[in-house]
Amino acid sequence: MTIEVHQFPCLSDNYGFLVRDDATGAVATIDTPDADAVNAALEERGWSLTHIFNTHHHFDHAGGNEALKARWGCQIVGAANDAGRIPGIDKGVHDGDRVSLGDSEAVVFEVPGHTVGHIAFYFASDGVAFVGDTLFALGCGRLFEGTPEQMWSSLGKLLALPDDTIVYCAHEYTQANANFALSVDPDNEALVARASDIARLRADGLPTVPTSMALEKATNPFLRPASVTLRQSLNMSAATDVEVFAETRRRKDNF
Ligand code: ZN
Ligand code: FE
Repeated sequence: MTIEVHQFPCLSDNYGFLVRDDATGAVATIDTPDADAVNAALEERGWSLTHIFNTHHHFDHAGGNEALKARWGCQIVGAANDAGRIPGIDKGVHDGDRVSLGDSEAVVFEVPGHTVGHIAFYFASDGVAFVGDTLFALGCGRLFEGTPEQMWSSLGKLLALPDDTIVYCAHEYTQANANFALSVDPDNEALVARASDIARLRADGLPTVPTSMALEKATNPFLRPASVTLRQSLNMSAATDVEVFAETRRRKDNF
């Protein structure tokens, strides 16, 4: 059960991802930011699209569903509890469900917060997670529909993944996220070092995605509300984790 992932830029700052099951040649696109770009990536490789795995309903994630389904007749998998907003959905899934891609399999996590029906796909045997707009490199999704409590509990599901999990997030927001992260956690040496790595990568036009859970746990302020230095800089020594998370998110919204 091995997959190959092909990542490519889409729209202004999205990433598209094709996932191919080696054993059977089944191919899923994680979201459909741009049908033309997904088709071009498939054609380049000579791959045929069999599945669409949607993380959430936003246009830069599900906007290409119908065009791709019309061309490929592929199966669309999305959140059962957001089925009304996922164009062309064939199969609604819930937390803990397993979805097949040929001989490979992804576990579904319900991760509400950015939207109420946001889900993530975790290919456990390959140690790969597609997290949409829930977790970003050094950031997390804006709370358009959910509460800080919901988002913090969603991030908790991702925090439970092994440290070496490869995390594919849906946008290249890392440089801006790094600037914010440094503003709230300036004494975090791992963060300072990472920020200069990121600046170098971006100056060369290179992606900062994927990331890993280990790197995010060490440097992402949205995953570190228990951090003593972060709490000191926010003046929130006695607060709960979710209060610190909520304040961090609020500051980022106004940064
Ligand atoms: Zn979104
Ligand atoms: Fe998005």
